[in-house]
Amino acid sequence: MTMRPAALDGLPLLEDLGAISGKRILVRSDLNVPLGEDENGTVIEDDFRIRSAVPTLQWLQDQGAEVVCCTHVGRPHGTSVPQLAVGPIATRLATYIDDVEVIENVRFDPREEANDVEFVKELIKGFDAYVNDAFGASHRNHASVVGPPQFVPSAAGRLLEKEVEVLGGLLLEPDVPFVAIIGGSKVADKLGVLKTLVKKTDTIIIGGGMAFTFLAAQGRGVGASLLDESLLKECQEILDGPCEILLPTDVIALSPGSSFGANCTQGDVVTYRGDIPDGWMGLDVGPQSAERFAEAITSAGTVLWNGPVGVFEDARFAQGTRTVGEAVANTKGTSVVGGGDSARAAEDFGLAGQIDFLSTGGGASLEFLEFGDLPALTALRHASNAPRVAK
Ligand code: AMP
Repeated sequence: MTMRPAALDGLPLLEDLGAISGKRILVRSDLNVPLGEDENGTVIEDDFRIRSAVPTLQWLQDQGAEVVCCTHVGRPHGTSVPQLAVGPIATRLATYIDDVEVIENVRFDPREEANDVEFVKELIKGFDAYVNDAFGASHRNHASVVGPPQFVPSAAGRLLEKEVEVLGGLLLEPDVPFVAIIGGSKVADKLGVLKTLVKKTDTIIIGGGMAFTFLAAQGRGVGASLLDESLLKECQEILDGPCEILLPTDVIALSPGSSFGANCTQGDVVTYRGDIPDGWMGLDVGPQSAERFAEAITSAGTVLWNGPVGVFEDARFAQGTRTVGEAVANTKGTSVVGGGDSARAAEDFGLAGQIDFLSTGGGASLEFLEFGDLPALTALRHASNAPRVAK
């Protein structure tokens, strides 16, 4: 038997379901794909999640199990929204695997988000076992991800297993130096994960809108850039801590009153090395910063990237994120991209194929990295068939 990585301790895997031939298994997948409309109705804009769900379903069928799948789609908040029905998703799934029924969008029922036990019982009625393969929903206390393991033998599917193995492995046994790049817009959203990462990493690179609260904490002028004054003190504490923090030393800014975003071209764009003048908005890290970040990333043993370092959707402010993304893709160490916008940036820049692991969960990845656990994983570890962990 192969040794399980420590990150998977106590988590029941597909093998822990025992003999499943002839059994009926409910699989909670994440088939929440981006949907659009054309003259013929709903269209699936990207079926990556549907294709990714197949290996677990296939494995179960290969063992002789009968498989039924459930998922959420969008945020209908407890009402039936015809545009978010699973019909087109089930049709697409059927092109990849035969004989998998898909239950209607679990979020059409208000009891899903309320984690109602009666809803859990209805969901699993007639099933012998349950599999959770929906990492992107596993940070939620929702019925379909935390409920079933209380009642039937349960397991993590292959996708969920891989996420926990890789992200958990980062927290437990990363190759050093461990460098994290944390970007995105709001510092408030990332402070929790930063507080964990300062204890786990050697260097944290901070970019994006959130960098300006750190720069302001150092007394730098940040003009009209994103700033959260209520968090200045907490940012200062992180800067004063033992972990090396790299902040932008130059910033690309947009002139007062101009707009930014995909296809915007209006306004003047200037690179500032010192303070950003009043009214100017910092929207990307400058070339000097990007180079310095890239050096730290390329020579790392482990790299974790979560969040773009600039407004990469706007071509004028994409270069910093591109340079960082290329360094992540070319690092000699292990590269992990933590879902959400950084995964989208890696894909936009054609780098996704060179990255060792792209997480499928945005909020779920951040929460897992912050707490080292998620509600749905705890639920699985409490299943009756979960492997015992030697204390
Ligand atoms: P998040 O969802 O917090 O990861 O943030 C991602 C978003 O942050 C992207 O859409 C970027 O456009 C945005 N972003 C990155 N850098 C900045 C910046 N300097 N100012 C404002 N927004 C930014």
